[in-house]
Amino acid sequence: MTGDVAEARPIAWRIGTVHEIIAETSRVRTLVLDVPGWPGHRAGQHVDVRLTAEDGYQTERSYSIASPPGDPRISLTIERLEDGEVSSYLVDELREGDTVELRGPIGGHFVWSVRDGGPLMLVGGGSGIVPLMAMLRHRASAPDGVRRATPARLLYSSRSWREVIYRDELAHLADTDDSLRVIHTLTREPPPSWPGYARRIDRAMLAEVTWPASAHPHIYVCGGTPLVETAAKALVELDYEPTSIRTERFGPTGGPA
Ligand SMILES: Cc1cc2nc3c(=O)[nH]c(=O)nc-3n(C[C@H](O)[C@H](O)[C@H](O)COP(=O)(O)OP(=O)(O)OC[C@H]3O[C@@H](n4cnc5c(N)ncnc54)[C@H](O)[C@@H]3O)c2cc1C
Repeated sequence: MTGDVAEARPIAWRIGTVHEIIAETSRVRTLVLDVPGWPGHRAGQHVDVRLTAEDGYQTERSYSIASPPGDPRISLTIERLEDGEVSSYLVDELREGDTVELRGPIGGHFVWSVRDGGPLMLVGGGSGIVPLMAMLRHRASAPDGVRRATPARLLYSSRSWREVIYRDELAHLADTDDSLRVIHTLTREPPPSWPGYARRIDRAMLAEVTWPASAHPHIYVCGGTPLVETAAKALVELDYEPTSIRTERFGPTGGPA
């Protein structure tokens, strides 16, 4: 997350107005924001959101941008954590028409563009899907030929089928694009006849779903710290170039690993 020219100077705080709120799961909401003066972003970048209480107390958290580059509005998808100071406010309290302060885009390392090519291997857990979804949405908007030349796979870990964020959109993307595969693993409550993986992401799973190292995939891993560390370690053991593996850690414990 260094080396970005935009990060060399302070980034201005802007006011975002909530245009729409989308319920993704029982604990996850997407905020679609109008942000006048937004300078544009790359898939994978994030913003800082700042909340100010009436007594002047301020607190900030980072949230990945779910919308692809070029969208007129900025989408943030936020999972409510138990006792989470900021996430519970954003998920439970914020209403359409309300405003939040945010600054960005931030991050120059965990980014991908169709110009970077593929194959594109995305590995995520829980809300770690958010920046990966921006990449998939960006890829989906590319011309057919470019997309086909850039095959993508997503390995996505969720606790249960109900908790799969963007479930319908992911199914639609995979159903309408032969060059995209979406592989789910459900770590806690797989449905009775679930045919897929039903355990945390591990080395054997990564070896099964990822292209061979000789294909030189661009790999992005995002989620809670344990998932990211497990996956990154396993990928290095499987001989993927360490420089081809980009990681983003969302927090101390994260969602399912
Ligand atoms: C670059 C970046 C991008 C992020 N993008 C997103 C995103 O798109 N969507 C999203 O929902 N979150 C995202 N996060 C996480 C987010 O910044 C906050 O950490 C999260 O919302 C918790 O904040 P809180 O104030 O609600 O919880 P806090 O009040 O800070 O913490 C409450 C409790 O939860 C624990 N905790 C804190 N953060 C996490 C976490 N991430 N996972 C599990 N436990 C945690 C704390 O240790 C504490 O016990 C991102 C983090 C980073 C660094």
